[in-house]
Amino acid sequence: MVVVMQEGATEDAVQVVINRLMGMGFDIHRSTGARHTVLGAVGAKVDFDTRDIELLEGVEEVLRITAPYKLASRHFRPEGTIVTVGQGVAIGGDEVVVMAGPCSVENAEQINTIAASVAANGARILRGGAFKPRSSPYSFQGIGQVGLEMLRRAADKHNLAVVSEVMEQTQIAKMLDYVDMFQVGARNMQNYNLLRDLGKVAKPVLLKRGISATIEELLLSAEYIMAGGNYNVVLCERGIRTFESYTRNTLDISAIPVIQKLSHLPIVVDPSHGTGRRDKVGPMARAAVAAGADGLLIEVHNDPEKALSDGAQSLFPEQFEKLMKELRM
Ligand code: PEP
Ligand code: MN
Repeated sequence: MVVVMQEGATEDAVQVVINRLMGMGFDIHRSTGARHTVLGAVGAKVDFDTRDIELLEGVEEVLRITAPYKLASRHFRPEGTIVTVGQGVAIGGDEVVVMAGPCSVENAEQINTIAASVAANGARILRGGAFKPRSSPYSFQGIGQVGLEMLRRAADKHNLAVVSEVMEQTQIAKMLDYVDMFQVGARNMQNYNLLRDLGKVAKPVLLKRGISATIEELLLSAEYIMAGGNYNVVLCERGIRTFESYTRNTLDISAIPVIQKLSHLPIVVDPSHGTGRRDKVGPMARAAVAAGADGLLIEVHNDPEKALSDGAQSLFPEQFEKLMKELRM
């Protein structure tokens, strides 16, 4: 941290700041310029609040130099991380991994039909929610445990791995035998008790960015999982809430290179929730891959117009086939 004192700050004020910083565990490097005294506070400490210093008398500006997360930081593993899902699907390597499937598992026939078609077109992981976090309590909430069984069976039949959303801690044990990767949804990105418990699980976690979360908050949530010992975290940009209302969310493509600089964790993009409209999914999927995304999470439904959730943003199987061909070009 660097503390810039105001012009004319008294020696007493400087000493108060120095004592406070030392009390926080920092070593102090002082530089007394013609106009400003600048204090460099150095130390391994990551848990501090710059406002505690900003409020002291005579302080002009406080700049944080190190990131508040350690394990999620690029410095921790400069070479990058490859997360293996199921029987050898590697996210973060050379391949762009596509995870596709319906928003919700509805019945065995639906999930089987979709699994067959996404697998035939190159998807490696089958997605589908059994427990659904819906904005309205009156909307379809998912079919629960039986959905997980259907999802697993469909995936096994078509040689796909499985990702599905976990909404609360008690669901972790119920899901362990059925999923290869736990999805933490945007609404739960800051459910710290859930994140802590996922830190103790021996399966990867797909962590979606919160609806109004900053990139730093996303990385701090990843840190919660990693601090528990589970380093297999894949980040997902799924759009954030802005003043724009034409699309459901505003897909932050720039988050891809930003995260790749800040963190070693793989980053995938969900253009389905990112735009909320199936006609916008293809262009944004291509943009994400062009920007360097390690994978895509795409909603596909055999009959989107009758889907029980997110039909408007789900691709028809033929659209998914076309997109996969375009992505290979
Ligand atoms: C989903 O993937 O279906 C979902 C609910 O996503 P999000 O948490 O990003 O809204
Ligand atoms: Mn959905």
